[in-house]
Amino acid sequence: MADCLFCKIAGGEIPSNFIYEDESVVAFRDINPQAPQHILIVPKKHIDSVKDFQQDDKELAAHIFVDVVPKLAKDLQIDESGFRVVINTGEEGGQTVNHLHVHVLGGRSMQWPPG
Ligand code: 5GP
Ligand code: ZN
Repeated sequence: MADCLFCKIAGGEIPSNFIYEDESVVAFRDINPQAPQHILIVPKKHIDSVKDFQQDDKELAAHIFVDVVPKLAKDLQIDESGFRVVINTGEEGGQTVNHLHVHVLGGRSMQWPPG
């Protein structure tokens, strides 16, 4: 989508260091990390938010959670210690970039409830 920051990053228009890439997603470090490990998993396809997933996106959604999240957690060595997976959605959900992305945070003890 034109003028979408994460479309530009995922499409290579804005050069970024991907820590992971495959045919449907990229993953890179958050520019403003909230934990020692803070990764964003971003689908290459533009989807506004988690509420905009379509039936056709089931494979993509499963891929993110079944394949990519566990792989990255293992690669980052936070799979044993624990980590947090977050999808901020909409204004009150704290979403600031309107291209679906999954935060993976780890490397420190998390608090609950979140702010
Ligand atoms: P949200 O607030 O929408 O859940 O998450 C957006 C995230 O994207 C924020 O954590 C923010 O720090 C990160 N972010 C915003 N712009 C950039 C950027 O240009 N590069 C990277 N790597 N992260 C970004
Ligand atoms: Zn986009």
